[in-house]
Amino acid sequence: MRDVAVVIPAGGVGRRLGSRTPKQFLRLGRASILALAAGHFARHPAVSDVVVAAPAEHLARTQRALAGVRGGARVQVVAGGVERQESVWLGMQAVPDSAAVIVVHDAVRPFLTRALIDRVVAAARLSGGAICALPIAETVKRVRGGVVETTIDRSALWAVQTPQAFRAPLLREAHEKARRDGFLGTDESMLVERLGQPVIVVPGVPENVKITTSDDLRRARAKRS
Ligand code: C5P
Repeated sequence: MRDVAVVIPAGGVGRRLGSRTPKQFLRLGRASILALAAGHFARHPAVSDVVVAAPAEHLARTQRALAGVRGGARVQVVAGGVERQESVWLGMQAVPDSAAVIVVHDAVRPFLTRALIDRVVAAARLSGGAICALPIAETVKRVRGGVVETTIDRSALWAVQTPQAFRAPLLREAHEKARRDGFLGTDESMLVERLGQPVIVVPGVPENVKITTSDDLRRARAKRS
């Protein structure tokens, strides 16, 4: 049964890559980063809808970028907001009421796997909310003004990725409360944590990187060729 809807925040016009083209439109081989990310969900048998929240000035370009995406899910484009959280909220407004689970996935993570989607969706069905993450390998320090302030115990630290999945009513409630409180988080889990609801952590995959810098892009292109 197709009862999973996916919201892909792709509303960033990030300048960190040093490119004039927003990074989700850059190509890895024949497809854009966004089309690769969206394709994983469009082909998934449990997904009914993929909603892409795009920069308001790039709606037509986003439609074109997604034209080649094949699969059984309906793919829609809506205008995103000024912040990532706002883009997700706007995307959620296009999710049908029939969706039992909503998955949120960054447009700039094109290397996710089917198994990863299955893991977060299954955990969200059971528990309400699930994220994927990897244990941190490096030693982590808090630094101020170029000087070490303290070393943080890394044994309990995880680097969090998307996809993140939630039962639909829980994610709606979390976003509504965040909006009422004027709270801005960097992922959906933060909003659900504020409700006091448990969020399960399932293993992420190392290749599911977020393409942020030109180095990330170079590495991603090398991987595709
Ligand atoms: O900028 P950052 O790396 O946090 O972006 C993560 C994701 O959020 C990207 O897919 C980006 O397109 C999206 N985003 C958005 N709306 C914004 C800013 C970022 O959908 N206003």
